[in-house]
Amino acid sequence: MEKDEFNKVLLCISCGNKTLMNKVASYENKVEDWTNCEYSNQQELLGISYDIWNLYFCPVCHNVTLELAQWETYSSYPKIVYEIIYPTTISKSHAVPLPIKNAFEAALKVRHLDGAICALSIRRTLEMMCKEEGEIKGNLYEKLTALGKRGVLPPILDKMASVLRTLGNDAAHAGDKDFPPELVSSMIEFTEIILDYVYVLPSKLAEIQSDIDKEKTKPETDVTKVEITDLST
Ligand SMILES: [Zn+2]
Repeated sequence: MEKDEFNKVLLCISCGNKTLMNKVASYENKVEDWTNCEYSNQQELLGISYDIWNLYFCPVCHNVTLELAQWETYSSYPKIVYEIIYPTTISKSHAVPLPIKNAFEAALKVRHLDGAICALSIRRTLEMMCKEEGEIKGNLYEKLTALGKRGVLPPILDKMASVLRTLGNDAAHAGDKDFPPELVSSMIEFTEIILDYVYVLPSKLAEIQSDIDKEKTKPETDVTKVEITDLST
């Protein structure tokens, strides 16, 4: 890692500007992986893994961005993987399909710049979700209704999506509809809830279920035997 890396051009999710940010704090967690060598009694270092948290300050909106840089020395060509941990967005979840993620990311980038453009991007995110879920016929209203009928969206989320669709339409037609920050925040929140329900929660559930199934198939240790031995001593 370069130790003199104090500034970085980053996209600030809070204000939507791509700007040079100052690194104001950094913390490194280093984990060494040692093993007993088979032939000598010596310990052998298999590799080292690093987690480095960097906190950057946006000079435009005065909010912070937390970046996690991870790398390890196990491979011959170590590669640093960067991830933005804060501000959190649902689009970071691996469960959300890429076209939907990109569309939502576009909405987040402009949320503080232009509420109407944000509403349009959210409408597009919903279009992408319908397509991903196999609804390609008709307008967005018909597609969302179809998703509701199929149970992909429960009634409350169907209503949320319907509100977002209407706001997206208002944004598309050059009316005098205002998009104040509170409304934009609610639109983002609604979209996150919808994507959470359709993609993130089922994925988490599947992970937990898979762990439970693995536990079930593990051979059970003979607890009775251990207890009996203990009593006899
Ligand atoms: Zn900013």
